[in-house]
Amino acid sequence: MKNKEILLVPGPTPVLDDIYEALASETRGHTDPRFVQIYKRAIDNTKKLFNTDGEVFVVAGSGTLAMEMAIVNTVKAGERILVISHGFFGDRFILLAKSFGIEVDVLQAEWGQRVSVQVVQNQLSKHTYKAVTVTHADTSTGVSADLEALVPVIKEAGALAIVDGVVATAALQEDMSKAYGGKHKIDIVLTGSQKAIGVPPGLAIIAFSPQALAAREEMEQVPAYYADIKNWLPIMQDPGKYFATPPVNLIYAYDTALEIVLKEGMAKREARHIAYGRAIRTALRIYGMTPLAEENVAAATLSCIQYPEGVEDTKFRSDLAARGVIVAGGLAHLAGKTFRIGHMGNTTEDQLEQAIRIIGEALKEQQYEVDIEKAVDVLHHLLTSNVK
Ligand SMILES: *Cc1c(COP(=O)(O)O)cnc(C)c1O
Repeated sequence: MKNKEILLVPGPTPVLDDIYEALASETRGHTDPRFVQIYKRAIDNTKKLFNTDGEVFVVAGSGTLAMEMAIVNTVKAGERILVISHGFFGDRFILLAKSFGIEVDVLQAEWGQRVSVQVVQNQLSKHTYKAVTVTHADTSTGVSADLEALVPVIKEAGALAIVDGVVATAALQEDMSKAYGGKHKIDIVLTGSQKAIGVPPGLAIIAFSPQALAAREEMEQVPAYYADIKNWLPIMQDPGKYFATPPVNLIYAYDTALEIVLKEGMAKREARHIAYGRAIRTALRIYGMTPLAEENVAAATLSCIQYPEGVEDTKFRSDLAARGVIVAGGLAHLAGKTFRIGHMGNTTEDQLEQAIRIIGEALKEQQYEVDIEKAVDVLHHLLTSNVK
């Protein structure tokens, strides 16, 4: 595809030509052995991505469906969960869980900051929680969660650890066999296809640990049909079976995307994203723009950036768009005061360099003096010294 825009919203992310090509392959019946083989490989590779000995589910939907599948298959009406929220997407679990009659307690950080582990520990000592939700990186604030510290605390309290990986999976490691604090594992990781995996929107992807699967078993009936993992389990184990038609072409694209992710390797991919995040924020600071999140809590995959005094949001973003760079506006009370830039998935160094240059030009349009060459040089230096 020629003249592609540089799509730096926090999902969807730029789609590589190989992935578009896969998407455009001939549509086959969902029980055609040629498709079934691809679906099976995509499911197996999803297990590799999460390094899980549990089960994964890859179904038509978006990240929000995966959030719903996580909750509805593990927590009953009347049981209680704790939501650790670093912004808009953390908060999404509140209404979601309440819709199913689940009791919800929330620990909300001031936007741009993290909930401290001590506060979580203290809350967990007050009640029994069936599950605790943590957003690995919150797309509204650009704040990441400290899984190293949180997972052991959650598990020691006897709760299931549910990680929303929607802007983290395939960028940051979410190894479900890893023993946090020596013995504690993540129970559920969920995501959507359109963020750091780099596929167009349309797939809900979720992994359940053996303990999370056991929680589903104990529940017998759940208040869901399409979102009930028990209806999908036979299909995930034998993708030639039918429950509801899988999005055949998206599965082609996802299968290709996973091969790209696994070929790069998660350790490298994580290092690349950490380098991207640091480099982008350093370059934007040269323009006098300050990230909402301090560097020690900032997400590797996207940043929420505060405008300097006098820069007008709508004009800034439309000037960028006119030059082919698309970023997102701020959410809730940050609307007009911030913009959000994704730097994840298969986004390239060249695209980021071009974006920094064009952001400088858009600032100049608003009579804001910036040193574009310096910002681009610093970005280039940080990317090339860190990544290789
Ligand atoms: C985008 C996002 C979601 C919601 O995903 P949809 O695909 O829009 O339903 C949930 N959590 C996080 C952290 C996200 O970034």
